[in-house]
Amino acid sequence: MTLLRVENLTATYGVSQALFGVDLSLAQGEVTALMGRNGMGKTTTVKAICRMIRSEGTLSLNNQNLHALPSYKVARLGVGLVPEGRRCFADLTVRENLIAAARPGEWTLQKVAELFPRLEERQGQGAASLSGGEQQMLAIGRALMTNPQLLILDEATEGLAPIVRQEIWSVLHRLKQETNVSILLIDKSLKELALVSDRAVILERGKTVWSGAMVDLGHDITEKYVGV
Ligand code: ATP
Repeated sequence: MTLLRVENLTATYGVSQALFGVDLSLAQGEVTALMGRNGMGKTTTVKAICRMIRSEGTLSLNNQNLHALPSYKVARLGVGLVPEGRRCFADLTVRENLIAAARPGEWTLQKVAELFPRLEERQGQGAASLSGGEQQMLAIGRALMTNPQLLILDEATEGLAPIVRQEIWSVLHRLKQETNVSILLIDKSLKELALVSDRAVILERGKTVWSGAMVDLGHDITEKYVGV
């Protein structure tokens, strides 16, 4: 079943147009990689889905029109965002950050602690004192506490040490195997993206230029639109 439907999405920052027709369709339980070089519109697409910027076109979750909703209602409908740069509440403790996001459902403090034991060890600590990797774990934990149907990670492992990256990737594999959440994923590691994603959508200058099963994404397409 289609969870998220994005068709011919356009968006502008002031007078400069950033999206020129993004198409992307996400099924329940699937992991989709949103790919493309820097500045091609990945973050803008995510912001539009979360209603953080104005956009036009089709945008629906479970056939409900997201364009009719403010961003907090999109979050409440089940879109959990792990934004670029994490943005945890620096003055709150780990536990307070998680509780602040909580909405009823299967995800609880206990389940997040099981996924990220490190967060449990640090639960009384201020978020500002966490390492980058721990902050990313907290940002993911916080998004899960909203009990999302769709989890979006913008630059899932950017700026993290290799060992922490590996931890984040294995958590994403676990979420894929053990839960029914759909995941939309942006990251620079093509190898890890390919391992965890069922599908890929590629943007070029604010437009979808390729989408399909990850196994069908050939070397030539990757080279043309994503490679450096
Ligand atoms: P990156 O990997 O660098 O984050 P991206 O694919 O996420 O790239 P976007 O950040 O969505 O790309 O940017 C798409 C286009 O919109 C770019 O041309 C960018 O310069 C422009 N843009 C992004 N944010 C703004 C903004 N706040 N104001 C004006 N233009 C912006």
